[in-house]
Order: sequence, then C-alpha cells, then structure tokens
Amino acid sequence: MKNLYDENNIFAKILRSEIPCNKILENDFALAFSDINPQAPTHILVIPKNSYVSFYDFTKKAEIKEVELFWNLVNDVIEKENVHETGFRLITNSGNHGNQDVPHFHVHILGGKNLGRMVN
Ligand code: 5GP
Repeated sequence: MKNLYDENNIFAKILRSEIPCNKILENDFALAFSDINPQAPTHILVIPKNSYVSFYDFTKKAEIKEVELFWNLVNDVIEKENVHETGFRLITNSGNHGNQDVPHFHVHILGGKNLGRMVN
C-alpha cells in the first residue's frame, strides 16, 4: 500500500480552508464534517488534522495524545448526532481493496437508520 501523502487530496484542501465543509465539531487534532454524498441520514467524516494516508499510517505514526483526541472526537460526534443509543457504524476504507477514494485517513460515522449487513 502506498503511504506517500498527497498534499492535494480533497481533505487536505478542506483542512487548509481552500474548499468549504459543513463542520460538525473539531478539537486540536481532528475535524468532523458532513459527507458531501451521504449514504445514511447521519453520515459524518472525522479526519486527523495532521497528514496520514490511512488508518495503518495514522496508527503507526501518530502520537498517543493525537490518537486519543481523534477517537474522542469520533465519540463526541456520535453523542452530538444522538446515535449512541440507536446505533451506528464506523467505516474506514483503506487502500485498493478497501476502495479508499480520498487518501487522507478518515472514519465514516453512519447512522439514523438500520444499515443492513456489513458488506454487500
Ligand atoms: P472513501 O471512499 O475514501 O472512504 O470516502 C471518501 C468520502 O469522501 C466519500 O464518502 C465522499 O462522498 C466524500 N467526499 C469526497 N469529496 C468530498 C468533499 O469535497 N467534501 C466532503 N464533505 N466530502 C467529500
């Protein structure tokens, strides 16, 4: 898997405020915003503010504090969107077999309806 970070990927542009996003929440290390093409009533992306290609890259390289605050933000969004009781799904696509489109690590938070089986 390629681990070379592309500074021109769309999420890097969102982080540099070169293109807009519908911000939901942020902290020092992570940003949450609505997916532009929602696949469920709740579909939010959480991304680290630093540059990582994938979950693997992030988990290998990020400082513990950064990892902690990233997942804290995921949980804060889950709470803010009120899906902690009804249920939700976290997805992080990675690389070719994971069908990852945007090469900046991100977690999808999906909820608001029954999401069906895991892989179709
Ligand atoms: P992936 O397939 O890489 O896991 O998912 C990338 C996600 O980014 C897709 O769900 C897609 O709809 C979303 N996306 C792509 N471009 C943009 C954009 O410019 N703004 C926002 N908010 N989401 C985007």
